[in-house]
Amino acid sequence: MTQFDLAQLIELDRKHVWHPYSALNNDMPLFAVESAQGVKLKLKEGPEIIDGMSSWWSTLHGYNHPELNKALLEQSQKMAHIMFGGLTHEPAVALAKQLVDISPAPLQHVFFSDSGSVAVEVAMKMAIQYWASKGQQRSRFLTLKKGYHGDTFMAMSVCDPITGMHSLFSDAIKEQLFAEAPQSRFADSWDEDDLDSFKDLLEKHHDDIAGIILEPIVQGTGGMRFYHSNYLKQVRKLSQDYNIPLIADEIATGLGRTGKLFACEHAAISPDIMCLGKTLSAGYITLAATLCSSDIAEVIQQGEAGVFMHGPTFMANPLACAVAGRSLNLLSENNWQQQVSQIEQVLKEGLAPCLTMSAVEDVRVLGAIGVVEMKEQVDLRILQPLFVKHGIWLRPFGKLVYCMPPYISSKEELQQLCSGLFKSLSQAYK
Ligand SMILES: *Cc1c(COP(=O)(O)O)cnc(C)c1O
Repeated sequence: MTQFDLAQLIELDRKHVWHPYSALNNDMPLFAVESAQGVKLKLKEGPEIIDGMSSWWSTLHGYNHPELNKALLEQSQKMAHIMFGGLTHEPAVALAKQLVDISPAPLQHVFFSDSGSVAVEVAMKMAIQYWASKGQQRSRFLTLKKGYHGDTFMAMSVCDPITGMHSLFSDAIKEQLFAEAPQSRFADSWDEDDLDSFKDLLEKHHDDIAGIILEPIVQGTGGMRFYHSNYLKQVRKLSQDYNIPLIADEIATGLGRTGKLFACEHAAISPDIMCLGKTLSAGYITLAATLCSSDIAEVIQQGEAGVFMHGPTFMANPLACAVAGRSLNLLSENNWQQQVSQIEQVLKEGLAPCLTMSAVEDVRVLGAIGVVEMKEQVDLRILQPLFVKHGIWLRPFGKLVYCMPPYISSKEELQQLCSGLFKSLSQAYK
C-alpha cells in the first residue's frame, strides 16, 4: 500500500532527505519512481520513461530481471548475511573465483567491500601496507587531473582538485600528486608529449610514491573523457620501471561498458590492483571488490602486521554476491559484446545530429557510453523536465549530457533515447 500521494512524497522528501550533491529544500526538479521494469522507470502518477543512465553505470541487464530476482530470493531464503570473520559461504567464494577467472591473469585475490569509494580506500591502503612491509613509509599517490575515484576522504584526495572542490577540505585531505590529464583522444593520433607531466612527477617523487591510481581509458565523473591507450600502456611501463603498484579503478568501466570486458584490455595491460563496483552487482545491491596480485598480497603478509588491516561489517554480503555471480553469467549468456557494439553503433548515429547545434561543443561515443559536451554548463531546471517530457531519463552534470544505457536496451529504445535527447536539447537551446 502506498502511504503518500505524489505531492506529499515530494514535500516530505524536500524537507527531510538528502540527495547526491544537493541542498535540502531546493527547487530543483524531482521525480518519484513507482517501479522499474526492463529499461523503463515508471514514474509515480506519471508515464514510463527510458533509462539512459543505468542508474549510474550499474544496471546492466535491466530492472526487475527474473533471473537476478531469483538469485536474490533464493539466497535470502538461505541467509541474508553472516559475518565474514572466520566464516565463509559459497556465493562469495564462487564470485571471487569468477572474478579471478575473467580479470587480467596476475590478479588472484579478492577483497569484497560495500561501495566503490571503499574499494578505492582498500586499494590505496593495500599500496601503503605494501610499502610498510618493505620497511618504507610511503603514503603519497600519483594520479591524473580530471579523475574521479569516490567521495570518502582518501578517495577524494585523488579526485580532480577543482571539480572535487579540494579547497573546501584542504586541511582534511591528503595532498597528492596530479599529472596533467591526457590530451590524446582515444581513437586519435598519439602525442608522446602527453606523458611529460606524468613522467616529471614520477622522476621527482618516485621514492615517495606509494601507488599510481587512475581510471583506465575513460575518465568518468571528472569529465567523461576517453583517452589514448598508449597513455595507459606507458603508465604501466613506467610504474614497472619504478616498481610502483598501479591501481586501475574500473568501477565505472569494468564488465564491458567500454567495449572490452575491462578497459585495461584496450592497452593490453594488467594492473597490480583493480577496483570494481557499480556494474558488479548489476544495480541490485551495493557491492564492490578490490583485486590484487599475489605479489602485493604476499608482501603485505610479510609485514609487521602480518594481515591486511581492513574488514567491513557487511563484507561479501551473500545477497549481493549471489546477484553479482548470476549477473556475470548473464553477461556471457546475453553476449555482451554484441549488446555493447549495437549500443555503440546506435549512439554514434543517433547522437551525431547534436553536432549541428551551435550550443554543442563535442559528441563522442565509446562502447556503451555516449557524451554530448555542451559549450556552457547546462540548466537542470530546464533540461531535466524536457527529458522526462520526451520519455527519457538522463542526468547531466556540468557541461555534459551523457548516457550509458543498460546492455539489454533494444535498437528502438536506443533510438528513442537519442531522439529524445536531441529534441530536448533543440527545445532548450532554440
Ligand atoms: C562511482 C565511482 C567511484 C565511487 O563509487 P561509489 O560506489 O559511489 O562509492 C569510484 N571510482 C569511479 C571510477 C567511479 O565511477
